[in-house]
Amino acid sequence: MNQFSLKAKLFFGPQAVEHLSSLACTNVLVVTDGFLQESGMVSKMTQYLPSGAHVSVYSNVRPDPSQELVDAGVEMIFGVKPDVVIAFGGGSCIDATKAILYFAGQKGLAHPYFLAIPTTAGTGSEVTNFAVITRGDTKVALIDDALAPDGALLDASFTRSVPPKITADTGMDVLTHALEAYVSNQATTFTDALAVKALRVVFEDLPVVFHDGDAMRARGRMAEASCVAGIAFTNAGLGINHSLAHALGGRFHVAHGRLNAILLPYVMRFHMADSKYREPYDRCARELGMADAEDLLRHVIDLRAELGVEDRLADLGSIDAGAFEEHVGDMAEAALGDRCTPTNPRPVSRQDLVNLYRDAYNG
Ligand code: NAD
Repeated sequence: MNQFSLKAKLFFGPQAVEHLSSLACTNVLVVTDGFLQESGMVSKMTQYLPSGAHVSVYSNVRPDPSQELVDAGVEMIFGVKPDVVIAFGGGSCIDATKAILYFAGQKGLAHPYFLAIPTTAGTGSEVTNFAVITRGDTKVALIDDALAPDGALLDASFTRSVPPKITADTGMDVLTHALEAYVSNQATTFTDALAVKALRVVFEDLPVVFHDGDAMRARGRMAEASCVAGIAFTNAGLGINHSLAHALGGRFHVAHGRLNAILLPYVMRFHMADSKYREPYDRCARELGMADAEDLLRHVIDLRAELGVEDRLADLGSIDAGAFEEHVGDMAEAALGDRCTPTNPRPVSRQDLVNLYRDAYNG
């Protein structure tokens, strides 16, 4: 039996931010990061809240949020006892908020209204039942419907300040979500339709926003594509591209979207080497008006190059060859056990994942 669900009510379009003024709230907690707080973006958002609401801000979130940061958030939320919680930021802020509410809920906190406002166009976390947190050197994907926000507010003006490199990383994350959802062994007609729409937007609008961060129509389309891809993968699941990126990111702390972008052509070739697993890529390519799977792969490689993404992990310069070899077996083990691996189209062994890591490192 297949299922399709979307928990969050979506607020989007030019007046979306006005949803904030209609919130029934007296005690609001905003979970965000230091940059968004200090740059004034948090107050730009909270000015729309009802005037009587008391607002507390927890701005300790960092990229790849750790379990310790989440635990501190759990302690803090019992002190604040908010009736509304707003996650404001990129995937790291939204995931940290999800995990804080999840673990606080297990300790008896009554569930407040949970609204997510993404400030990057990348993870789709505002609509997914995933949260990725880092425990030691490992990024762990929590997957539970209880994690999903109650509402998601898309306002592309909050993404306008994202610099080109992060625009590239997060945009390639959208592409990876959509493509992994499309080829997933749990894909359905519904998730395929969403994935193809997101892919069309990424190929068209990601180069535009990369070259011109003020291109607000394209920013708006990318914000929606990120959310659309999130709805696709929260229903269809992801695959080993994400499993490999999680284990690598936990160890070496490179931006998640960049790792996905570097790994993607290697993972596509691994699947396409067998005609059975090449078939969904051929189908996806045709839906996008491309000739076949090879043509789709060429488009991915060309887009990556246009965005200045490295071809090989070695080219990042931040992953030492010795440290990589020392940890490649452990990372493959972690990737094999990652929650994204069971929905990968092609069954994989630990050795397949070691080989993929080495291919992606050396090119
Ligand atoms: P991020 O949240 O880690 O943010 C990256 C950087 O961008 C930070 O320094 C942040 O301050 C900055 N930033 C955010 N918004 C900005 C803005 N408007 N202007 C300028 N700078 C801004 O990056 P991300 O790619 O959005 O999230 C990545 C995290 O999300 C990873 O931990 C990844 O594993 C996780 N993830 C979660 C899901 C999910 O479904 N829950 C899906 C994919 C990825």
